[in-house]
Amino acid sequence: MYSEAKSPLAQKRNIVTAIPGPKSQALIERRKDAVSASLGMALPVFIERADGAIILDVDGNSIIDLAAGIAVVNVGHGNTKVIENVKRQIDAFTHTCFMIVPYLGYVEVCEALNRLTPGKFKKKSVLMNSGAEALENAVKIARSYTKRQAVVVFEHGYHGRTNLTMAMTAKNMPYKDSFGPFAPEIYRMPMAYPFRWNGDQAKCAQEALEMITHKIEKEIGGKNVAAIVIEPIQGEGGFIVPPKGFLPGLANYAKENGIVFIADEVQTGFGRTGQMFASEDENVEPDIITTAKGIAAGLPLSGVTGRAEIMDSIHLSGLGGTYGGNPIACAAALGAIETIESENLVERANKIGKIMSDALNAMMKKYPIIGEVRGRGAMQAIELIKPGSNEPNSEAQLAIIKFCINQGVLIISAGTYANVIRLLPPLTINEDLLREGLSVLEAAIASIK
Ligand SMILES: *Cc1c(COP(=O)(O)O)cnc(C)c1O
Repeated sequence: MYSEAKSPLAQKRNIVTAIPGPKSQALIERRKDAVSASLGMALPVFIERADGAIILDVDGNSIIDLAAGIAVVNVGHGNTKVIENVKRQIDAFTHTCFMIVPYLGYVEVCEALNRLTPGKFKKKSVLMNSGAEALENAVKIARSYTKRQAVVVFEHGYHGRTNLTMAMTAKNMPYKDSFGPFAPEIYRMPMAYPFRWNGDQAKCAQEALEMITHKIEKEIGGKNVAAIVIEPIQGEGGFIVPPKGFLPGLANYAKENGIVFIADEVQTGFGRTGQMFASEDENVEPDIITTAKGIAAGLPLSGVTGRAEIMDSIHLSGLGGTYGGNPIACAAALGAIETIESENLVERANKIGKIMSDALNAMMKKYPIIGEVRGRGAMQAIELIKPGSNEPNSEAQLAIIKFCINQGVLIISAGTYANVIRLLPPLTINEDLLREGLSVLEAAIASIK
């Protein structure tokens, strides 16, 4: 068993039992008895181990991973540099709390974030544990720096599940329902969502910007706004890619009004979109960028990176936390970042992104339930509709995901209307395996009546 576990897994799909198999079924029962029923389960099998883009389950099924733990394992499962760094760090020390005894790994991750994030100005960073915690801190920093309170967020936005970030997240079910009251001073604006606006990209950008700036002026007052927080491509909301001009327009409005422009790059960061950060696409230089997911290949870590004068404006000991920037997570991050740079995974994201978008666009021509193919780089999605209308087709989404999972291809859902399928493979996935995953997806779509 153990010696078997040491050899790398073949990058091949191989289904040897029903999904879930008997061992997974038994573990699912055990889980039911011990774990709160509140937690979902996208793939109903228990994992034994993973390598590259293959998940091996406890029944011996090899499943193609087109989710990467929600854009976390961008460097692939079992990445050598991550594992080596983590092992070395565990042997040295596991925790001191950076505010009690500092260590180099934390500083190195901050240096990497300051260097890699967009913005040709002096930057500084702090490290936290989760995406939500990064957003919480970004808002704290913006409020303290501006001495203002209002925070502008967007329809379809997702920023986490803590009290403040629930308020910032758009979708009620399942994220907010029954969990109120929510933090005050959060104002939600319309999102430039071309597919559900009028289809015309330029018009959508212009109309949305006019509407948003008008609403901010009339309903909040630009001078009361501490921060505008937006995902450069919305993740959970359905991979909504704003039309050209929208993000620069918002960033300009923020600048003119002394508002801190915060790009939430928790899902889009670290090469995912075919650029190190999605804000680069239109040369947007956010005042603050939040990062997490892809930063450390699965170890809990997040970052808040911003203009030095903003990041340094907080009083001494105003930010922190027991575990933020844990040394093992920092070691993993340094391994992941080194891999992204040395293996040129940013370029690779474009390559596999093209394979995905070509395949998905070909499917859209054949199957009228696909209303739109969208995304950038290795962040691609399809929005499913009832043919002949724009009406969301969430039944099709469920059926397609189930079909794929039964065939050993893990894909995941997204979208305010539960009608989007998103593809987030590890950036290292081999092309044959990716094409095989896409052909299973096509068979799933073809099976929808
Ligand atoms: C996942 C996500 C978060 C929350 O991150 P957690 O680590 O789950 O708290 C915030 N923003 C975006 C854009 C995300 O995708």
